[in-house]
Amino acid sequence: MKAVTWQGRRDVRVEDVPDPRIEEPTDAVIRITSTGLCGSDLHLYEVLTPFMTPGDILGHEPMGVVEEVGSGVPDLSVGDRVVVPFQIACGACWMCLHGLPTQCETTQVTGEGMGAALFGYTRLYGAVPGAQAEYLRVPQAQYGPIKVPQGPPDGRFIYLSDVLPTAWQAVEYASIPPGGTVAVLGLGPIGDMACRIALARGAERVFGIDLVPERLGRAGRRGVHTYDLTVYDDEKALVTAIRDAIDGRGPDAVIDAVGTEAHGSTTARLAQRASTLLPRRIGAPLAERFGVDRLGALHMAIELVRRGGTISLSGVYGGTADPMPLLTLFDKQIQLRMGQANVRRWSDQIMPYLTDEDPLGVTDFATHRLPLADAPHAYEMFQRKQEGAIKILMRP
Ligand code: NAD
Ligand code: ZN
Ligand code: ZN
Repeated sequence: MKAVTWQGRRDVRVEDVPDPRIEEPTDAVIRITSTGLCGSDLHLYEVLTPFMTPGDILGHEPMGVVEEVGSGVPDLSVGDRVVVPFQIACGACWMCLHGLPTQCETTQVTGEGMGAALFGYTRLYGAVPGAQAEYLRVPQAQYGPIKVPQGPPDGRFIYLSDVLPTAWQAVEYASIPPGGTVAVLGLGPIGDMACRIALARGAERVFGIDLVPERLGRAGRRGVHTYDLTVYDDEKALVTAIRDAIDGRGPDAVIDAVGTEAHGSTTARLAQRASTLLPRRIGAPLAERFGVDRLGALHMAIELVRRGGTISLSGVYGGTADPMPLLTLFDKQIQLRMGQANVRRWSDQIMPYLTDEDPLGVTDFATHRLPLADAPHAYEMFQRKQEGAIKILMRP
């Protein structure tokens, strides 16, 4: 089959690889009909290079049709239409039963000290072949795949794999009080959808911050108060402007939907760049331990949120020893919640929004639909934010 493979920093290629097969009774194999490109893939494209191996198959946002099922998957049949969550979880362990499939004790990558295995996401997360491919082997298929009705286009359901539950969890963790306010940093697919969900679930005002004109425009058209980072002299000026709009106090909650791609400090950027260029033996520990994240957005979130407010972190940060403004976090009595989205915890709550009325605007959420063969172009365009690319779906 054809699959998108990682070959090196900013180098992905579509290659012929062996077809996946059922290996365990709890496996299924699906034929992919649509597969998303995610901001998280951009971390692999560049920053997380030390944890990748050339030939790794990328991707974690698939939907498709069941081709084959193992004997331990009673509820799936050949021909079922399914969306597959980006994380692999068993549904039966303590963590899964407590609504934390991202921490699944059956699939945890204990050798690396990490949580549940993820599709197409480095050896830290199990080096599981990913979903930007014609076919996908789905482990733990007795729990993961979400069955969706035949009929409506893929675009209605595909975001259940990642964008919707991630944005939903971001809003849930933000604990916006009734009639409250939230600021969302980053208006990529995750931030944009978080704004939509916050509005749909009753936030009084939603403030969105980014620096890409199309992204600001799109959020603005859905009722978000948008702020363009580039028109302010510095972060302080932007923070003041938003605070002033909310009684000088700041928003009740801030969602950081930027993560490690933030346009942050130059020193961090240089260190980060260095770690991807160094030999893997040196680069991996550097990326992991010596704080080479770009924490610009997180620092802004801490500054911006009102005292006693909540920060909900959905952007992915990779390093483990970044200098954090703990003094300020503590002094401001901030609640900070974060983590990968627990997809199956939220999927049943999201499903009622995926109707013909389309309150979240999922049907035209994708700005680009390309053949899988165009993956190298898709990655480049998405990373550089060219051609108005906000969300890209690929068709194997
Ligand atoms: P994206 O890269 O398209 O979006 C990031 C946006 O942030 C861009 O529009 C960029 O212009 C903007 N930005 C950069 N620096 C900024 C700053 N300092 N202030 C404000 N905006 C800034 O990616 P995406 O697909 O929307 O994903 C966003 C983040 O969420 C990524 O870090 C991704 O890894 C993470 N993510 C997390 C989960 C999860 O389960 N928690 C799932 C999916 C994605
Ligand atoms: Zn994703
Ligand atoms: Zn589990």
